[in-house]
Amino acid sequence: MSAGEDIIVGIDLGTTNSLVALCDERGPRVLSGDDGVSIVPSVVRYEHDDSAPGGVRTIVGDGAKDRAVEFPERTAASVKRLMGRSLADARDDLPYLSYRVIEDEHAQARVELRLDEQTTKIVSPQEVSAVILRELKARAQHALGHGVRRAVVTVPAYFDDAQRQATRDAGRLAGLEVVRIVNEPTAAALAYGLGLGERAQGETVVVYDLGGGTFDVSILRLTPGEGEGGTSFFQVLSTAGDTRLGGDDVDHMLVALFMREIRELLGAGGANDEGGLGAFPPATRRALKMFAESVKCRLSEAASASVAIAINDKQTYERTVTRDEFESMIAPWVERTIDACDRAVRDAGDKVGEGGIGAVIMVGGSTRIPLVRARVGERFGVEPYTALDPDRVVALGAAVQGSILAGTTKGQLLLDVIPLSLGIETVGGAMAKLIVRNSTAPARATEMFSTSVDGQVSIKLNVLQGEREMAADCRSLGEFELRGIPPMPAGVPQVEVEFLVDANGVLRVSARERRSGKRASLQVVPNHGLTRDEVERIEAESFLHAREDMDRHRVVDLVANSRLDIKWIGEKLERHGGELEPAYRDDLRARLEALRAMAELGAADWRSVDPGEFHRAKQALDEASVRLQEVAIAASLREQG
Ligand code: AMP
Repeated sequence: MSAGEDIIVGIDLGTTNSLVALCDERGPRVLSGDDGVSIVPSVVRYEHDDSAPGGVRTIVGDGAKDRAVEFPERTAASVKRLMGRSLADARDDLPYLSYRVIEDEHAQARVELRLDEQTTKIVSPQEVSAVILRELKARAQHALGHGVRRAVVTVPAYFDDAQRQATRDAGRLAGLEVVRIVNEPTAAALAYGLGLGERAQGETVVVYDLGGGTFDVSILRLTPGEGEGGTSFFQVLSTAGDTRLGGDDVDHMLVALFMREIRELLGAGGANDEGGLGAFPPATRRALKMFAESVKCRLSEAASASVAIAINDKQTYERTVTRDEFESMIAPWVERTIDACDRAVRDAGDKVGEGGIGAVIMVGGSTRIPLVRARVGERFGVEPYTALDPDRVVALGAAVQGSILAGTTKGQLLLDVIPLSLGIETVGGAMAKLIVRNSTAPARATEMFSTSVDGQVSIKLNVLQGEREMAADCRSLGEFELRGIPPMPAGVPQVEVEFLVDANGVLRVSARERRSGKRASLQVVPNHGLTRDEVERIEAESFLHAREDMDRHRVVDLVANSRLDIKWIGEKLERHGGELEPAYRDDLRARLEALRAMAELGAADWRSVDPGEFHRAKQALDEASVRLQEVAIAASLREQG
């Protein structure tokens, strides 16, 4: 075994998508192949190829998925539904699979693919999964530059022994030693660092997993290990879900809506098709489904989304779907998942414990839908964790489990102390620290911010981590935007920014404009991917640059604040100059110009001004402007009276 090969990767072998991740001293991260792609669709196409061993070659991932509609009988998709099951077990799934499923001599389900008119090929679901695993292994080897032999592979919590064994066998066929099979919800909890520290012990965690075609909710309890140094583990208290519920249903609802309206537009009688897709050719159906999915995804970000579909030479179907309309359409669908949550809670019963639900983790692409997040939050009375990419959480957690087994998690940071300061970028690019390093979690801090331009209706918030004074020298953890601020003069809106780090180390930043009540928020796992060495380096750098950074921060803040003063005083001077004593007016003008010059100089290069002198110039103008303010106020009272 050469250097590095003792690592253990984590693999999420999903029904629709699969991915591989590694957790080393740099923290957990997803690995990608030479194409830069990390998510591999769990789809395999089989083709005749005389040069290939056995005369058949396989195409895995995007290449197979993109042409699945063209070659339905020789494309194996969703084989996870067949792993370790008999034909009878899998009966309900059969109508949804595009290939034939038969039974072998041990009553196990097998995939029958038609390569051409004469040839069929029969493969086990394990063999198909092995093709996918081999592809992931190759990607990991490419990313790491050395061999990969061992893996942790995840499975749904409800998988029985036969299904788990089939998953192990698939790994072996792919040349991987599957050192541990881990439940998907457990992996999701590990990705958030749950169960890795002391504090979380005894906590109950909900994992809500809503993907493209399946929905699972699991309730886990973190059980402390026996005796001193005993490892704590997650016990699955209950699971519920629906293997036929997911984002695809939403796409179908939108397609049905578009079809109905297109028919109306065409004036054609669609009565014989009950609003279904039957009358439209496959290419149109595929296009409509693609449009629908893109509208759905855009509505996760925006208040409305539009499509324009050319239906013939003369007519275009144009449609805008608003978030409100979309939400009333999908509400019953969301409620079905909430019902399953209720069932899971009921089944877990008293085992949930007195502390109640401590955390809710969101997994699967469909949890990006705001209504889903809101309803799940309401149901459990806990703000759900959404900081990690819901498509990657499971693979990242599998990698964390892998690194624990390989003995490499020792370097991981514990989350009870916040290792680096957290803050936001201010106008001019300085870092305003809200939570300073070495604070203990949980921690909370708030600060008021405002706009810097008249009539500004949105504010971009850049969440930062680091010790340096300038945003550019810190690490950006993410950005979000507060929109819908009513237009007001610069400096008037009051935006309250709150930082909240919970006991598990997850940071939630929210911003609220007081007058309009508009809100926006973002979640992140602050120390993700940072090792202790990196934290120490960042800290050392901050000492090195302390003096210089501080000066720069002061100049940047002074530039931003002076600009507001200059604008305000300049306007008032223009209007009320005639009412002022000439000597006072000239003096004020001179001070204003002096500050303007300094601000311009400081904006061009912070080193060109002395922060102390700059500060004094600003103060001098502030003090001198008192008389002008009085005149302005008197004038406005006169106008009102
Ligand atoms: P998964 O099975 O976890 O890969 O989830 C895939 C599902 O998530 C598909 O139905 C996607 O259309 C859906 N999805 C991905 N991104 C978004 C988004 N931004 N908003 C809504 N649904 C999404």
